[in-house]
Amino acid sequence: MTVPGTLNKFKRLKIKQRDPNERKNDFDMYMIPYTFEEVKIEADRCLGCGLCVPGCPARVNIPGYVRAIADGDRERGINILFKDLPLPQICGTVCTHRCEDACVFHNRGDAVAIRHIKRYIAENSDYTRDVNITKKADTGKRVAAIGAGPASLTIAYYLALNGVHVDIYEKHKVPGGMMTIGIPRYRLSMDFINKEVDFILSLGAEIKYGVEVGKDISFEDLMKQYDAVFIGAGNHNPRRTGTAGAEKTDRVMHAIEFLRRVALGEKVDVGEKVIVIGGGFTAMDAARTSLRLGAKKASIYYRRRFEDRPSAGTSNGEEEYEETVAEGIEFIWTVTPFEYVVENGKLKGMKYWKNEMVEQEGGGRAKPVPMKDQEYFVEADFIIEATGQTVDFSFLPEHLKEKLEMNWNNIKVDGNGMTSIEGVFAGGDAVNGTKDIISAVADGKRAAKGITKYLGL
Ligand SMILES: Cc1cc2nc3c(=O)[nH]c(=O)nc-3n(C[C@H](O)[C@H](O)[C@H](O)COP(=O)(O)OP(=O)(O)OC[C@H]3O[C@@H](n4cnc5c(N)ncnc54)[C@H](O)[C@@H]3O)c2cc1C
Ligand code: SF4
Repeated sequence: MTVPGTLNKFKRLKIKQRDPNERKNDFDMYMIPYTFEEVKIEADRCLGCGLCVPGCPARVNIPGYVRAIADGDRERGINILFKDLPLPQICGTVCTHRCEDACVFHNRGDAVAIRHIKRYIAENSDYTRDVNITKKADTGKRVAAIGAGPASLTIAYYLALNGVHVDIYEKHKVPGGMMTIGIPRYRLSMDFINKEVDFILSLGAEIKYGVEVGKDISFEDLMKQYDAVFIGAGNHNPRRTGTAGAEKTDRVMHAIEFLRRVALGEKVDVGEKVIVIGGGFTAMDAARTSLRLGAKKASIYYRRRFEDRPSAGTSNGEEEYEETVAEGIEFIWTVTPFEYVVENGKLKGMKYWKNEMVEQEGGGRAKPVPMKDQEYFVEADFIIEATGQTVDFSFLPEHLKEKLEMNWNNIKVDGNGMTSIEGVFAGGDAVNGTKDIISAVADGKRAAKGITKYLGL
């Protein structure tokens, strides 16, 4: 073990993980959290310079809570965390930790393990006992939020502290949004999610489960019944590749549907050989989940090169890639599928071309161009398309869709988180381009402030 104050200040105390050959057979969490001795050693490396803070979308006071645990004061640490982040245990476990890429040690050794330190503080805290809550008296104001993901949970937390009641409408029967129905359990246990959701709800917010806005209740009714509405509906509309043959079989599925079904307890039969199309986190989660469902082989086919994959070069991207490879998943680069081969109703495999990467005139990202003179075939029992998703706007009536200003595929909001429709706010994946939990939290914080101002409180 390293000793604080030695040359090893530049080296991270690596967190332990379960053996990949063992962990790939079950859905138990694979990361083994720091002990108190370990977290102190790691926290002692921090210089308190604060360079990491702008790297965090929610601008959490990182040096503050890292110092607190270095001093052995976990309770101070959890209170610093809760000022800016009502989901510290979830983020301590699966945050994309872009703050670590901004740490002063990142390019001269190893960044301080900010995320693991946060997990230690949160996991070892009892929020009801340790978090000092000052809650304003009930103002009588009520806000409706669509979706029980991190964006809505964050506004529910901050508005509850300001005496505003939030009703969250969630079409599924579970809380958490993509944290629950996207991120697999081996990375984030349901206990972690429930702990933080329960704490937020204990302050006065409510989740109305199994209620789909646009179907079970109209968006306009929400606007009439509440003082403001928050859209935290995420991105749940699958983007498909359009590859021929997909329509002939139910053995080709979008990753969002696949991961959701597994998360909700369905035993999806993936067979022995699984192909995942894509190259990002969702592709890796889909492949790793397939192994845990019994696949003997899972391979990820991506249209660009190794160095072009999403999040390449970030510490989070590299860590997840290493963990995926360690579990025996193979990556095949520069591939375009053009047919899913189905014979007598049975999926046989996939035909694909290899791509050449063509540099763009005037710079820009090299473009994958299929070399169609050579065709390849690979056998598969199940194919998963992890090719992204967009906002599902089916909850909005046409006349409001027309009024809602967009920024490409995302809802446009102002500095208060308000959309182009008066009294309607938005945040999270439906709004921001980064599409991670901490950005949803940052959006939720902004919207909670904006709503408080809008309500004249
Ligand atoms: C496979 C996968 C892995 C990921 N891994 C990570 C990770 O490791 N770290 C990280 O930071 N981020 C990760 N993300 C991204 C992260 O989960 C999202 O950025 C975040 O959850 C977005 O939060 P949100 O509140 O905007 O929406 P969501 O979490 O998507 O929640 C939206 C909720 O709205 C509900 N909803 C939608 N429409 C309606 C309606 N009409 N009526 C009622 N309810 C509705 C949905 O059911 C859903 O529960 C991952 C995402 C996926 C898909
Ligand atoms: S940048 Fe690194 S060393 Fe500086 S405060 Fe943040 S965690 Fe500590």
